[in-house]
Amino acid sequence: MFCKTCGSLLQPRQTEYGKWMSCPQGHSQPKIVTSSDTIVSSNKPSQVIGISDGKNPLAVHDHICKKCGHDKAELIEVAPFYSDEDQFIRMKCGKCGFAEKLEGRIG
Ligand SMILES: [Zn+2]
Ligand SMILES: [Zn+2]
Repeated sequence: MFCKTCGSLLQPRQTEYGKWMSCPQGHSQPKIVTSSDTIVSSNKPSQVIGISDGKNPLAVHDHICKKCGHDKAELIEVAPFYSDEDQFIRMKCGKCGFAEKLEGRIG
């Protein structure tokens, strides 16, 4: 990697925000890519939900799936469509995707 401004070879620089490549002349680079981000993005798209390795990144709530026994689920709030209907939530299993409707309101 070279500086976009002066062409100098970029050098790794350690800051309190992390480590990235920086121009020795102090020119800011249009794209600052940390080493860890580079590894992640080259292996797989980071923002694909529900595909990657079978685990849902949104499934962070403690809930035992009735189907497969996985203990993390995604919480989905479902707003009432009719005024006489209570709001309810669904717990969607982060592993198999099984969604379970929970009675009652949240909190
Ligand atoms: Zn430079
Ligand atoms: Zn499950």
